[in-house]
Amino acid sequence: MRKYDLAVVGGCSAGLAAAINAKRLNPSLDIAVIEKLPRTGKKLLATGNGKCNITNLYALDHGYVNKGFASFAINTYNPNKIVEFFASMGLLTYSDSCGRVYPESNMAASVVDALRFELDKLNINTVCDTPVTDIKKSDGGFIINGNIFCKKLVLAAGGKSSAPQGSDGSGFELAKKLGHTVTETVPALVPLNSKPEITKPMKGMRVRNAVLTLKGEKNLAKTQGEILFTEYGLSGIAAMELAAPAQKYINSVKYNPFTMIDFLPDMSYNELLDYLKNLNKIKGFCGIDNLLTGILPKAVGIAVCKACNLYSAERLISELNDKDLRRVAEKIKNFSLEITGTRGFLNAQVTSGGIKTEEINEKTMESKICKNLYLAGEIIDVDGGCGGFNLQWAWASGMLAGELK
Ligand SMILES: Cc1cc2nc3c(=O)[nH]c(=O)nc-3n(C[C@H](O)[C@H](O)[C@H](O)COP(=O)(O)OP(=O)(O)OC[C@H]3O[C@@H](n4cnc5c(N)ncnc54)[C@H](O)[C@@H]3O)c2cc1C
Repeated sequence: MRKYDLAVVGGCSAGLAAAINAKRLNPSLDIAVIEKLPRTGKKLLATGNGKCNITNLYALDHGYVNKGFASFAINTYNPNKIVEFFASMGLLTYSDSCGRVYPESNMAASVVDALRFELDKLNINTVCDTPVTDIKKSDGGFIINGNIFCKKLVLAAGGKSSAPQGSDGSGFELAKKLGHTVTETVPALVPLNSKPEITKPMKGMRVRNAVLTLKGEKNLAKTQGEILFTEYGLSGIAAMELAAPAQKYINSVKYNPFTMIDFLPDMSYNELLDYLKNLNKIKGFCGIDNLLTGILPKAVGIAVCKACNLYSAERLISELNDKDLRRVAEKIKNFSLEITGTRGFLNAQVTSGGIKTEEINEKTMESKICKNLYLAGEIIDVDGGCGGFNLQWAWASGMLAGELK
């Protein structure tokens, strides 16, 4: 039986932050990181399109799910502290105008290297290729897989999104066996499925700044940002941020919600109508397929005209009357798309849902149910939007858990 003071189950963002902080605060601890994959940090390599959006400088104001619980960790190990944490490992960062922080090298691999070098420097044991399937409480600690003993345990095995990167939901089962409750889990930050007959003709078209309102019987969520039409539905950050509320709605009421798209939130309906009325003078001789090319990608403009039942290949812009143009303006501000589901956990960046926050002490990350068990990262029912907010939570909760208070 191998014996450690601390074992960290899950060797990615939260787990590595926990192990490093624990060892820095208490160098005499014998620590092992137990990871099921052949190497630690695999998911990090895929983050931020390979650039790793490490954190976001505005994380303190972000609307995390269960923000009340998450705030202590996020304030204690705030984005500036995370930037310092990486600087202490020799990794410098920069931020963009939205507060998104990236490594100066623009390479996620640099982030993973920095963490791995630090593990080596601190003599933290990494036990890879070792899926944890069983954790039992024993006298003075825990027994993992029947052959590893530890006095304290950090469970940082992630959620169940993006399973090829390691987090397949097995952490939830381990937590349940230790007495915890796991809330409903749904894929978050993942593209949406819609009606392909509507979206496919617009495949590949982006709208830079749309406002999306997800509606069931009432408004469920609202986002703003880029959207991208795909063969199966809708992608882009603003659409992906609607995935969790959409899936929860479908699971609970068994009806599909709709997203109302305002393609041009910076123009009022009246400004839009004036613009459209003026187009007759500018290009009245053109076909209706060119009506909206001055403000939207052509295929999106055609879809808007079709949704108004105005589209025909022969029709000219000059043939549209004021009533037609009012319908077009109305549709640009209110384009309705049925959401039939999401692209699922396999394609999701994050899992929404997880270990119930009421069962964890938010000031220490220690379980209120099982002494000497600490939880960190995506395994907990906390998640945020795109932009570095989820890694911020992973680092912050991991470092707080690593205090072992
Ligand atoms: C494609 C993609 C891009 C992303 N980009 C960003 C981004 O740019 N910025 C951002 O903030 N967030 C991003 N995220 C989200 C972010 O990566 C996660 O929120 C974060 O990694 C969660 O950290 P974690 O340590 O809690 O869980 P994970 O990173 O999922 O790590 C869990 C670890 O535990 C291991 N493990 C799981 N089960 C077991 C077991 N039973 N035994 C042993 N080991 C186990 C896994 O192999 C894994 O290494 C992205 C996610 C994806 C999928």
